[in-house]
Amino acid sequence: MKGIGVSPGISIGNACIIYKAAIFISGIRVETKEEKDVEAEKFDKAVLSAIEEVNFLREKNALTLNSEESDILDTQIEFLSDPQIRSDVLDKILNENKTASDAVIEVVFAAAQMFGNMEDVYLKTRAADLQDIGNRILNALNHNAQHLPAQFKKNTIIIAEDLSPSETIALDITKVAGFATISGGKTSHAAIIAKARGIPAVVACGKDLLNIENNDIIILDGTSGDVIIRPGDNKIEEYKRKQKKIIEELSFLKALKDLPAKTTDGHTVKMLANISGHTDLEQVFENGGEGVGLFRTELLFIGRESFPSEEEQFQFYKQVAIKSKGKPVIVRTIDIGGDKQLPYFGIPHENNPFLGYRAIRICLNQKDIFLTQLRSILRASVFGNLKIMFPMVSSIDEIRSAKECVQQAKEDLLKSGINFRDDTEIGIMIEVPSAALMADIFAKEVDFFSIGTNDLCQYTLAVDRMNEKVSGLYDHFNPGLLRLIKNVIAQAHKHKINAGLCGEMASDPLATLLLLGMGLDELSMGAASIPYIKNIIIGNSLSKARDVCSNVMKMDNSGTIKRYLEEVSK
Ligand code: PEP
Ligand code: MG
Repeated sequence: MKGIGVSPGISIGNACIIYKAAIFISGIRVETKEEKDVEAEKFDKAVLSAIEEVNFLREKNALTLNSEESDILDTQIEFLSDPQIRSDVLDKILNENKTASDAVIEVVFAAAQMFGNMEDVYLKTRAADLQDIGNRILNALNHNAQHLPAQFKKNTIIIAEDLSPSETIALDITKVAGFATISGGKTSHAAIIAKARGIPAVVACGKDLLNIENNDIIILDGTSGDVIIRPGDNKIEEYKRKQKKIIEELSFLKALKDLPAKTTDGHTVKMLANISGHTDLEQVFENGGEGVGLFRTELLFIGRESFPSEEEQFQFYKQVAIKSKGKPVIVRTIDIGGDKQLPYFGIPHENNPFLGYRAIRICLNQKDIFLTQLRSILRASVFGNLKIMFPMVSSIDEIRSAKECVQQAKEDLLKSGINFRDDTEIGIMIEVPSAALMADIFAKEVDFFSIGTNDLCQYTLAVDRMNEKVSGLYDHFNPGLLRLIKNVIAQAHKHKINAGLCGEMASDPLATLLLLGMGLDELSMGAASIPYIKNIIIGNSLSKARDVCSNVMKMDNSGTIKRYLEEVSK
């Protein structure tokens, strides 16, 4: 079967299927009154959020719901508001020392089982409603997320509906050889992380993936997007040969590690890496990365129960600063929202999360979160060469307000007598079309730009980066997008600031000559891609790249552009 190959390479291994939410009783006991109150409060909040969810479903589908479906939603609200269920759950928490989720499983699922065993057909069908509301409450309690086993066998290929960024990060890459998912897109964060960690991945395979059974032998080709189930011996041999070739090519490319990415006519581009924490740095240097062009800090915030404290964040950034050995590290302030939700932050449901409350918008609205992060980055700045970057900027007011917050964070530290580097550079991501169009003005406000093509592409072309149905339209060679990128680089240079690019386009070999010709100063990508892109730069001249760029800018559609780039890249 075929999906979208999002992280290159070939894996051959055994399937481990993790579709189903594992509902299990943890057996954890809550002992103190405070702990019990917290659990009781969590339950009440989870019920409210489940009610909100059902109401939202009802409103969203108001015109199409038939009376039966409408009844089902009414019954679910009734169950969710049922005083008996609430008092049974609270009794388990307060008198039997259960956690909220254990109490919900015991009360709601036991009731569902009881209804399911009844003779009366009407009552029997209510079992499914109870099951459903049980799932909704557990979901709100964040306990029925996909349950990844704690340990994997060697050469495991994960087969899942989708993987969240935190699940992808948690994968032990010494055991997990790759993954294939039913949904997802090229620039979903699971895909980006897989690429950075060098594990082959294929997304958007569709429901056919359900045909796979646990322990089936699977071949995963993260370049072509092929997923081969239960292959014969000949296929396995064929793919082992391909795998060997890829590994040999890579070891040749890795030998270029200590050379600069210099064209044949002497122009140098900085090769930087995208990371999510200090543990990624080893791979960065192994692949010849010269620093970090994008440190996605939000990954410290996900997969946990509450916001990290200033001290915890400081230690996290300090580790990166120290381990990056004086090389530049662009620290991006939190970019939560969109596909990176924090269950403990509780952003209410939004119809368009990518156009909603996310990134710098949250930071400027909830300054305590922002200032805590800025103070911890500044505190860590004395241990290395950190720069600060704001995501999702769309207006000059946001830049000015964010800079005021940096000033405020510096004053807080001064008052407390804590050291920081006052010359810490400040930059912005260019990932909203208004920012790309305002590059001439914004360039006067900041020290550098970094073009985030993942979002800039989705916003410019109005194509959801996570929606596989429109993945064919998500295309970074669209001439409209290319015009914006070119403008940003030209304006940056006119105002004598650096222009980098840290979206997935940076690691697309087809785009390298074009971006070089546009004059980019820095390319930042998943560490595993650095050797491939460096090899292209080393083998070409800037003057050829400029010609390529000028020809591409005269073309009116991406099909022609891609064919031309394939031709000149041979
Ligand atoms: C981008 O939008 O290009 C980017 C690098 O940021 P993220 O993928 O984290 O949204
Ligand atoms: Mg982005």
